[in-house]
Amino acid sequence: MIKVLIIGGGFAGCAAAHQISLAKPLYDVTLIEKSSFLGAGNKTRWYGGHPYTFGPRHFLTQDEEVYKYLDEIVPIRRCKEHEFITYISQDSNFYNFPINADDIPKMPDEEKINTELSCLKSPEKACDFEEYWISSIGETLYKKFVKDYNKKMWQIDDNKLFDTFKWSPKGIALKKGPRAAWDQSISGYPINENGYDPYFEFSTQNCKVLLSTKIEVFDIPQKRVFFNGEWFKYDIIINTISPSDIFENVYGELPFVGRDLIKFVLPSENVFPDNVYFIYFAGDEPFTRLVEYKKFTRHKSPHSLIGMEIPSMNGKHYPMPMKKWQAVADKYHNLQPENVFSIGRAGSYRYEVDIDDSIRQSMDISKII
Ligand SMILES: Cc1cc2nc3c(=O)[nH]c(=O)nc-3n(C[C@H](O)[C@H](O)[C@H](O)COP(=O)(O)OP(=O)(O)OC[C@H]3O[C@@H](n4cnc5c(N)ncnc54)[C@H](O)[C@@H]3O)c2cc1C
Repeated sequence: MIKVLIIGGGFAGCAAAHQISLAKPLYDVTLIEKSSFLGAGNKTRWYGGHPYTFGPRHFLTQDEEVYKYLDEIVPIRRCKEHEFITYISQDSNFYNFPINADDIPKMPDEEKINTELSCLKSPEKACDFEEYWISSIGETLYKKFVKDYNKKMWQIDDNKLFDTFKWSPKGIALKKGPRAAWDQSISGYPINENGYDPYFEFSTQNCKVLLSTKIEVFDIPQKRVFFNGEWFKYDIIINTISPSDIFENVYGELPFVGRDLIKFVLPSENVFPDNVYFIYFAGDEPFTRLVEYKKFTRHKSPHSLIGMEIPSMNGKHYPMPMKKWQAVADKYHNLQPENVFSIGRAGSYRYEVDIDDSIRQSMDISKII
């Protein structure tokens, strides 16, 4: 019997377990997760009677097949009207995010912004993140929305260190009109109060799940790992953790930025404006965004739970979007022998891999193994 090992039980690992059980029902699949639960940050936690996840975990996709697949297992409530806003302290104002041309007339430096917008250079020729954004939206909008936010988000001093551009604001420089009019994505969140949790149970029901299990030694070239005092050999390995971790950092440890989450309950039924789900803070506030969880969960309470995300070095959450580190990740990926694959956000070492992409990757892999 073909033996498969899945390393990590986040969305990517659980989706891989399910897709393999559908495509290859006779394979013998083991999933190893170091913590005591499946789902990682997507697991629903509770505070003061309110459900929440570690960060928003908003399901947003343009992939119909992935949406239908997830919706059948954990029915999704669509929220097409969702909006994000950004606080710009220098203007004492909140504006739409991604940056919206309709907000420019509300800005005190409207004239300067319009002059800059009328003589933009081509962003295609930009060599670094700063140049890319200045040539896309002009210096003033870049300073307001992107410059300090990016440094805070990635815990760096200089945006010129970045030579990939698309992560923020999600590859969209300037939009017009309300979000619902231009965003083609399917947006939603599970209807049930435990969020995605039933998915993690369901997706792994046909595989052996080892929780609270630490792999002590990885021998990926031989497709074997050491845990619980023994070596175990596999035919196929699906990895969802940092590629440098499974190769004992032979090319150095791949860097990640982490997150701390502070949660607090406020004594109002609703805190954010009606359709606003996230509020970003683009200046020198120590946090990147606030999330009002009720917008997703529709939890009924006279109070509301807010989550505040603070960039930190805790956790391997966000792979650095720099060519230098992506090249090191590629070197690790190239070390993988046949039938070893890395997927998910950390495994792919790509920040842009979200929940939907992790599911898509697992669908694709189950077809070729
Ligand atoms: C704060 C935050 C907010 C987010 N919000 C959204 C959002 O709104 N929408 C969206 O689509 N995506 C969001 N994402 C990203 C999305 O949740 C992930 O891309 C997706 O869940 C895929 O995760 P993964 O399985 O690749 O990794 P992870 O969720 O990190 O799972 C990896 C798993 O591997 C385990 N592990 C680590 N090391 C080992 C080891 N040595 N042995 C065994 N197990 C190990 C970990 O404990 C973890 O359970 C967010 C991410 C973060 C960090």
